[in-house]
Amino acid sequence: MRKVDSAGGAMNPWAVAKKQLADVAESIGLEPWIHSKLSECKRSLIVSIPVKLDNGGMKMFEGFRVQHNLDRGPGKGGIRIHPGVTLDEVKALSMWMTWKCAVVNIPYGGAKGGITCDPAELSKSELERMVRRYTSEIGIIIGPEKDIPAPDVNTNPQVMAWIMDTYSVNVGYPAPAVVTGKPVSIGGSQGRPEATGRGLMIVVKKLLEKIGKKPKDMTVAVQGFGNVGGAFSKLVAELGCRVIAVSDVSGGIYNSKGLDIPAVEKYVSENGVLKGYKGADAVSNEELLELKCDILVPAALEGQITSDNAAKIKASYIIEGANGPTTPKADEILESMNVVVIPDILANSGGVTVSYFEWVQDLQSNFWKYEQINNKLLEIMSEAFDAVWDIMQKTKCSMRLAAYKIAVGRVAKAVRLRGIYP
Ligand code: NAD
Repeated sequence: MRKVDSAGGAMNPWAVAKKQLADVAESIGLEPWIHSKLSECKRSLIVSIPVKLDNGGMKMFEGFRVQHNLDRGPGKGGIRIHPGVTLDEVKALSMWMTWKCAVVNIPYGGAKGGITCDPAELSKSELERMVRRYTSEIGIIIGPEKDIPAPDVNTNPQVMAWIMDTYSVNVGYPAPAVVTGKPVSIGGSQGRPEATGRGLMIVVKKLLEKIGKKPKDMTVAVQGFGNVGGAFSKLVAELGCRVIAVSDVSGGIYNSKGLDIPAVEKYVSENGVLKGYKGADAVSNEELLELKCDILVPAALEGQITSDNAAKIKASYIIEGANGPTTPKADEILESMNVVVIPDILANSGGVTVSYFEWVQDLQSNFWKYEQINNKLLEIMSEAFDAVWDIMQKTKCSMRLAAYKIAVGRVAKAVRLRGIYP
């Protein structure tokens, strides 16, 4: 699934993440000792997960929880269940979480978790047993004041509920603040399910304000139609943009006049995947990335836009819904083509921002209204977007480098103040 970058060798997300840090370290003149500290993860836990199968057998799985940096606050980051999960992938995702929390200035460090498994091969009860055992195993490093997981690829509010319940049973009292993205009835937040998609839509609005265009002038193609891509497609269509293509693991659909997103959503909820949807032409995931459109939103997995396909991209703007979808080589090519890439750490930060609201509400046992959540999200993301845009214009750099300058600068300040113990 992960692509090979012919100009950069096999794609390793951890190598990509470290290269991005090295670029910003050079550009801001980061002290070498801080660069060294930030180039490593603070803690990487590997766990083995024995799962009793419905047929009476047992199967072992491998899981990870990595905390990249905790200088600005407890760890925060999702849990992914996917056959492609590796320690290096989880390390990269945890480093990206450090920068993401810093760019929107919420008081968290970066963490991430994952289990190497295709959940489609498990029954619901096998999946529940796997998630509960994984939670028990990583229970030694997570907790409301230590590290707070959340949903990511192939995990959802039900999985978060199992994590909350398992952790609570193990410690002996209810601990809703151990995880975010829970159902509202057990301490979840209004607005969390669509928060990442809403944040991406806010980014589109801010971009249009800056470039003086109207939503109706813009066509959008979205790779990935899950939690992030699905919610974004709906909200950006409501904003007035024309969503001309969407895709998922089964392939993509295209209609130059614009897709009827509520009808597509209904089809996916009834059939599980996009494949077979009538009223649009079929496109492959590769073709979708190269479609003529104004805004391209990769919202599936990392390593999708590489030196192999970057030059074929026709979009003027790429808004990264997924984490790490663009390789550094592809970034260089896109920059030379004047394609503006709005980086993951800014673009998809709506999810972690509302996760932060959920955690604060849980700690206070005081719950906010939907409008309040959305207004606060708009305020935080607008402020972050404006700050990154200003740095980009003032220092004539890419939006990724501008976002990294802010994020790494904030984390470096915390590292400097706290120093090295002993
Ligand atoms: P999800 O599991 O809900 O959805 C993933 C989607 O991508 C599905 O539609 C799946 O079919 C599709 N997909 C999988 N492999 C694909 C491929 N090779 N080509 C095209 N489509 C493919 O996951 P999600 O939560 O929507 O996460 C998507 C991305 O967004 C990930 O990179 C994740 O790290 C990132 N992200 C998620 C959140 C969140 O709140 N869930 C927040 C920030 C970033």
